[in-house]
Amino acid sequence: MVQTRLVMKFGGTSVADMERIRRVARLVAAEVARGHQVAVVVSAMAGKTNEMVAWTDAGGRAAAGLPESDDEYDVVVASGEQVTAGLLAIVLRNMGLAARSWLGWQIPILTDDAHGKARIEDIPPDALIAAMDRGEIAVIAGFQGRTPEGRITTLGRGGSDTSAVAIAAAVQAVRCDIYTDVDGVYTTDPRIESRARRLARISYEEMLEMASLGAKVLQTRSVELAMSQRVPVRVLSSFIEPGDASDDTGTIVCDEEEIMEKRIVSGVAFSRDEAKVTLFGLPDTPGVSSKIFSCLAEANVNVDMIVQSKARTADHANMAFTVGRRDAQRALELMRAAQAEIGFEDVEVDADVAKVSVVGVGMRSHAGVAQSMFKALAEKGVNIQVISTSEIKISVLIDAAYTELAVRALHAAYGLDQL
Ligand code: ADP
Ligand code: ASP
Ligand code: MG
Repeated sequence: MVQTRLVMKFGGTSVADMERIRRVARLVAAEVARGHQVAVVVSAMAGKTNEMVAWTDAGGRAAAGLPESDDEYDVVVASGEQVTAGLLAIVLRNMGLAARSWLGWQIPILTDDAHGKARIEDIPPDALIAAMDRGEIAVIAGFQGRTPEGRITTLGRGGSDTSAVAIAAAVQAVRCDIYTDVDGVYTTDPRIESRARRLARISYEEMLEMASLGAKVLQTRSVELAMSQRVPVRVLSSFIEPGDASDDTGTIVCDEEEIMEKRIVSGVAFSRDEAKVTLFGLPDTPGVSSKIFSCLAEANVNVDMIVQSKARTADHANMAFTVGRRDAQRALELMRAAQAEIGFEDVEVDADVAKVSVVGVGMRSHAGVAQSMFKALAEKGVNIQVISTSEIKISVLIDAAYTELAVRALHAAYGLDQL
């Protein structure tokens, strides 16, 4: 680890207009003044990526039955980050600092060719390190990379977090600071529960679960990468005053051993991006599940929760599983097409569902966590449709209309409310 190298990442709200970009430049200048060699990773201005995604749809991509993401989709949506990287470099230069912008292909950030959700495979660090050693601030366009063949790729929505952590690992930075519109990682989304508390520290494992269960404050892949490459990550607000950040600012994502305060449950996450598919009257014979799930896997439809139960008719079962909401229609079509072969009686899709989860490493050693969850939901009259558990999380699928009620009830039930 090189003590002086620091990666700072700024999300869309933090670079939403010129005034905010100037504010970002002052935060960067303060870290340079503290003796850091800085690489800055920027997102597109807030709303720009959404706008470009909509343009690609309007261009007929979806209507033409093209895959959700293709290589030209990436050419379009990667462009938002080029603008902010260039603008920030200009502002830094105007402040008398040495700075230059870097696009993904110029570093290069090498990825596989899974357009729209590419994974970083390698970042040769030499050019960036040489620039930083010269005292130049490297302003990097987040979210983008290139394939070995030289085509532009993007890393999936929220992917600038992953760009930042990957750069931090590549240049062996002392830390990766993720500046955003909240001042840290909270016990739950502070937009839903005003009593949510900022966590001073959270373990990589818990953060990974929180992110993958819907807490979009960090992209899941960025946490995976931070955990495997042992990059210390800090989440903090971009609205602090330059020079004000201290050791107590924000949330540190780190190893479990570095956390003194032991909690059973650290946070509550939720996702409305779910749909439930139910198959009624399935033959209760070996090989049926295999047929259903290979059919979905071949079409690249990810399945999350699964439950099977006996039906009233002898030798028949019912099965319900969940998929991402945008895959629901596709899953329904696939099931209908395979109805004769699988041999079920009926299929139904419900997109008005949400997944609410509680996460905490303390669950490994404490009994009764699930019981408290079910009790808290029952007291609010929330019906549980599907349950799934892992070592450090419990998730339930509920009617989407009860999402906020359930999140708040669980937040209180595990004593997470601010006193
Ligand atoms: P950026 O544009 O900076 O990448 P995002 O919108 O991707 O910011 O992520 C920040 C948002 O994540 C916050 O505004 C907040 O609403 C949401 N969020 C969800 N869960 C949490 C949580 N547990 N802690 C903090 N923020 C959360
Ligand atoms: N601009 C991209 C998005 O909106 C990447 C990011 O912000 O992290 O998904
Ligand atoms: Mg984000």
